[in-house]
Amino acid sequence: MSPTAPPQQANSAPEPVLSVIVPMFNELSSLAPFWQRMSAVLEQLDVPAEVLFVDDGSRDGSAGRVRTMARQDARIRLLELSRNFGKEAAMTAGLDHCRGERVLIIDADLQDPPELLPRMWELADEGYDVVVPRRTARPGETHSKVFFSAAFYWTMRRIHAAVDLTPGTGDFRLMSRRTVEAIRELREKNRFMKGIFEWVGYPRVLLDYEREPRARGATKFNFFKLLHLAADGIAAFSTAPLKLATLAGVGTAFVAFLFGAYIIAKTLLFGDPVPGYPTLVVVVLFFSGVQLLAIGVLGEYIGRIYNEAKGRPLYIVKAAALVDERR
Ligand code: UDP
Ligand code: MG
Repeated sequence: MSPTAPPQQANSAPEPVLSVIVPMFNELSSLAPFWQRMSAVLEQLDVPAEVLFVDDGSRDGSAGRVRTMARQDARIRLLELSRNFGKEAAMTAGLDHCRGERVLIIDADLQDPPELLPRMWELADEGYDVVVPRRTARPGETHSKVFFSAAFYWTMRRIHAAVDLTPGTGDFRLMSRRTVEAIRELREKNRFMKGIFEWVGYPRVLLDYEREPRARGATKFNFFKLLHLAADGIAAFSTAPLKLATLAGVGTAFVAFLFGAYIIAKTLLFGDPVPGYPTLVVVVLFFSGVQLLAIGVLGEYIGRIYNEAKGRPLYIVKAAALVDERR
C-alpha cells in the first residue's frame, strides 16, 4: 500500500467479490512466492478480493507469516484451525468463512497457477457456476502416484459411483456463491471434496492447463494418506463394495454347491476312500477368506456410520484473526 493511500479500516474494506481460499499445512517456504504471484493476478483482475489462508495446524510458523503479510495487505485474512484436520476439512472451513460472490480454491504450493484466474473469471462471467482447471501434465509426480490415481478414477467409473469424476481435475476451481452454499449443506464427516464438488452439480466447464511441479517444500500426502482418501471417495459415493461382497458370497456359495454335488456323486459312484484332507483345508481357508473380506467391507461402512453418528464438528477454529486485528 502506498503511504498516501487512506488507512484501511476493517469495516471500511469493501465486501469481497472474490474469495480466494488457500488451505495450508507447513507451507512457510511457499508463502512469499505464492503471494507474489497471487497478488499480481489480483491486481490484474481488479475486483474487491479477500484471500483467506486456512492454517491447518502448521507447525512451521506459516500462520505467523500470514499474519505479518496481512499487516501489509488488508485483503489477507487468516483462519487458524486448532490442529491438523486434513485438507478436506481445511477447505470446508474456508468455504464456511469466506464472503465472496465467487470463490477460488487454490493450493499454497503454486502447483495450481494463480495466473489461470483471469481466464477462469471470464468463463464464470459467461455463466458457468464452476470453472475447473484440468491438468494435462503432472510433472514432479511419481509414476506410482499417476498409476494409482488412474486406477482410482477407473474404479469410480466402473462401479457407477454417484459422481462422475474427471481425471486431471483437483480441488483447484472457481465456484459461484450458490455452488458454495450447496456444498456447505453437505456436512458428512468422511469428506471427499472432489466428490462433493461434483455431486452438487450446476453448469461446469473445464479449462486445460499444464500443472507445475511443487515449487518448494514437500507433498503432504503419502501413499497411505492417498489410499485412505481414495477409500473415502469410494465409500462416500458408492455402495458397490457392499454389493460386491454379496456377489462374492453368492458366487462362492454356488461353487460350494457344485462341489458338494460332485462329492456326493463321487461317493455314490466310487464309494468313500480316504477323504481329501487338503481339499478340505483349501475350501475352509477360501471361505474364511471370503467371509473376512465381506466383514471387512461391512466394517468400512459401519466405521463411517460410527463417524457420522458421533456428530463431531468437522474442524475447530483456534482463531479467526485479522478481521478485527487489521488497522
Ligand atoms: N494441505 C492442508 N492440510 C493437510 C495437507 C495439505 O491444508 O493436511 C494443503 C497443503 O498445504 C497444500 C494443499 O493442501 O496447500 C495441497 O497439498 P500438497 O501439495 O501436499 O498435495 P499434492 O499437491 O501433493 O497432492
Ligand atoms: Mg501440491
